[in-house]
Amino acid sequence: MLSEFDLEMPSDLQASLSSLPYATPLGGGTNLLVDLRARREKSKRLVWLGNIQAFREIKINAQQVSIGGGTTLSDILHSPAMAEAAPSLFNAARVFGGQMVRNRATVAGNICSGSPAADTVPPLLSLDATICLTNAEGCRSVPLDQFYTGFKTNLRRQDELITGLSWLVPNSNTANLFYKLARRKGDAISVVGVAVTVTREGDRCTHARIALGSVGPTVFRAKDAEAILAGGLLSEKLINDAAQKAMEQSKPIDDLRASANYRRHSVRVLTRRLITQAWHSLPEKTAHT
Ligand SMILES: Cc1cc2nc3c(=O)[nH]c(=O)nc-3n(C[C@H](O)[C@H](O)[C@H](O)COP(=O)(O)OP(=O)(O)OC[C@H]3O[C@@H](n4cnc5c(N)ncnc54)[C@H](O)[C@@H]3O)c2cc1C
Repeated sequence: MLSEFDLEMPSDLQASLSSLPYATPLGGGTNLLVDLRARREKSKRLVWLGNIQAFREIKINAQQVSIGGGTTLSDILHSPAMAEAAPSLFNAARVFGGQMVRNRATVAGNICSGSPAADTVPPLLSLDATICLTNAEGCRSVPLDQFYTGFKTNLRRQDELITGLSWLVPNSNTANLFYKLARRKGDAISVVGVAVTVTREGDRCTHARIALGSVGPTVFRAKDAEAILAGGLLSEKLINDAAQKAMEQSKPIDDLRASANYRRHSVRVLTRRLITQAWHSLPEKTAHT
């Protein structure tokens, strides 16, 4: 049973910020209410962010995507341009929870919950997303890559909200893919999540991102594996080497969903598969866009 709490429902950002740090931000509640019910979370005062309309704005132009801190997974799926502006995130939204969860769950809540299995985080890391942390004084931008400090710990201060995220739209020489390996197709926690971004110029890979979920205390970028690809002439051997390195950088645990060995093996297979797919989807001749 849920214990009692006070619920504030401000309709503007300033009012919600003035409730912090005494109140806990409530996005869709798909983590927080579960944790309150299970007594893992003890907050007696919550501030619901769902009444702040500007919080759900999605803006996409030719260069940049920015989404508000209250953007839900369903908002991502219903945004016509998102499939091109963030293919990996769009695909993560498609396999995220069930319909009811997608309607409530926010991207910011997914990031803040800090689960190593958070499905939006590998895609956002692969897109080099930056988050905007706002308090009464203003907003500071933090690259998502620097946000996590350990298992379920991060740089957010108690008086800050994630009010938005932004990233650059991949150009036509760039492919961005995500794959969630889980025990079911829907409503399942990831066994392994892999997101990759690859930019091709002729036979050369000029930019690479590999982000891994559920194989460490936080979602993280396999930077040593990225370094094998970036700047190199792409070949089957180079892809295999990068996939092997991604596996070596993983530090998974055994749990009821999969063994650590299976997860490590899956990282190698999925990284190799996604980079190969990404590479072959790109034009051999560079289009300058
Ligand atoms: C049935 C079910 C299925 C699920 N399936 C998946 C899945 O497939 N993949 C997956 O990754 N997760 C899944 N989840 C977990 C959960 O839905 C996600 O983590 C979700 O994105 C959390 O977002 P929320 O808006 O509901 O966050 P909340 O529960 O409202 O909040 C989570 C945390 O974030 C903080 N927070 C929320 N918004 C902000 C903000 N703007 N600024 C600062 N802090 C904030 C809260 O204080 C809290 O600490 C599932 C959960 C359930 C119950």
